[in-house]
Amino acid sequence: MINIIYEKCIGCGLCVRECPFNAIKLEDRKAVILDNCTLCGSCVSSCKPGAIDFQKDKADDSEDFSKYRGVWVFGEQKDNSVLQVVFELLGEGRKLAEALSVPLSVVLLGSEIEEQAKTLIAYGADHVYLVEDKSLENYNDESYSDIFTQLINKFKPEIVLIGATAYGRSLAPRVASGLNTGLTADCTELGIDPETKNLLQTRPAFGGNLMATIICPNRRPQMATVRPKVMKPLEADYSRKGEIIRPDVKIPENLQVKITETVHTVYEKVSLAEADIIVSGGRGLGDAKNFELVRELAEVLGGAVGASRATVDAGWIDYSHQIGQTGRTVGPKVYFACGISGAVQHLAGMSSSDIIIAINKDADAPIFKIATFGIVGDVLEVLPELIKEFKARLG
Ligand SMILES: Cc1cc2nc3c(=O)[nH]c(=O)nc-3n(C[C@H](O)[C@H](O)[C@H](O)COP(=O)(O)OP(=O)(O)OC[C@H]3O[C@@H](n4cnc5c(N)ncnc54)[C@H](O)[C@@H]3O)c2cc1C
Ligand code: SF4
Ligand code: SF4
Repeated sequence: MINIIYEKCIGCGLCVRECPFNAIKLEDRKAVILDNCTLCGSCVSSCKPGAIDFQKDKADDSEDFSKYRGVWVFGEQKDNSVLQVVFELLGEGRKLAEALSVPLSVVLLGSEIEEQAKTLIAYGADHVYLVEDKSLENYNDESYSDIFTQLINKFKPEIVLIGATAYGRSLAPRVASGLNTGLTADCTELGIDPETKNLLQTRPAFGGNLMATIICPNRRPQMATVRPKVMKPLEADYSRKGEIIRPDVKIPENLQVKITETVHTVYEKVSLAEADIIVSGGRGLGDAKNFELVRELAEVLGGAVGASRATVDAGWIDYSHQIGQTGRTVGPKVYFACGISGAVQHLAGMSSSDIIIAINKDADAPIFKIATFGIVGDVLEVLPELIKEFKARLG
């Protein structure tokens, strides 16, 4: 909680300069805290008259964290199929559960979806909390977050992982704020602190220029979202044993939003998320028209087209193709980076690719540091050669 004690504030403005989030302004020579204040506390020490009343959110000492046990994954499904990101989270969740010696569980909400529960067990779940109701067939913010919260309150997991999909990004903050706990979005790495057993949630910070490891020591559960393709799933083992639990929950009624129809977008032919091969173009292509070479190579290889932000910003290609921190995260088997320098923000979206092939005329370009194979040369000369060669070899 933060408040300005107006009687003490002399309007010196030092706090305004100190705030890294531009969350204080001066009005009539008095400091005013704005809505975007993150409660980081940086301004407090700058105020010599002691006019900033800042109280850290203290842990509720009466709460016994030992009651919280287990790692949970949100089993997001679409059209009664569990999304790939859920299997990826199970792969990561298994490591966390083993480090803590606790069970790994999935919460699966839907209608007539029990078959999927068995698949989740094959991919590493010990328990599947299955709630089936016709009203849960499609994702709904209100009902899903309400039921998820009911389950967390009842079974008390210590860690909850959610895919950073469109629905996951909507669900996670609703649930976290309802439970008054923390949430770390878009984690790229998760681990367990061996001493405190807290979840270590690592994600890019300050525009991707450094990696921050965030902990949530004073609240439970510890919640994190992870983008698709960042973690690796385990091999499915259909002989694994697990338990399907049908918990008693109250299905919300009289929802404010009802889904009457779902329309799939037509231009999803890019399908970057599923592509095994991605050919991405960067500013080194020199001109929008040269993206044709990238498209042609992708077509010859049966892959999808990606792009750096520089080319999206230049209007050479649509944003839906952008790979990176503010675009999509991908992890194909083969990633071609054509005329892309390899800025950290781009790497954040593709560095987990199995094989990276970089084409760049600058032998010192950072992309070569993570490339499996590097071709130093003019992309406008190399791409036609590759297209010709792959066409000849692949028929
Ligand atoms: C908050 C934030 C978020 C961001 N998010 C993203 C993101 O999601 N995705 C992203 O991509 N970027 C993102 N960026 C931008 C990022 O920092 C870089 O500016 C961007 O990735 C650069 O794109 P580029 O590699 O295409 O261009 P450049 O950095 O300009 O690199 C062009 C490369 O092409 C090479 N080249 C030039 N001509 C040729 C030629 N004829 N043949 C071969 N090589 C050639 C050059 O040597 C150079 O290495 C973000 C930046 C910020 C601050
Ligand atoms: S607490 Fe942090 S974000 Fe809020 S006003 Fe102070 S410095 Fe700015
Ligand atoms: S630093 Fe303190 S006294 Fe100065 S404007 Fe900010 S709140 Fe007021």
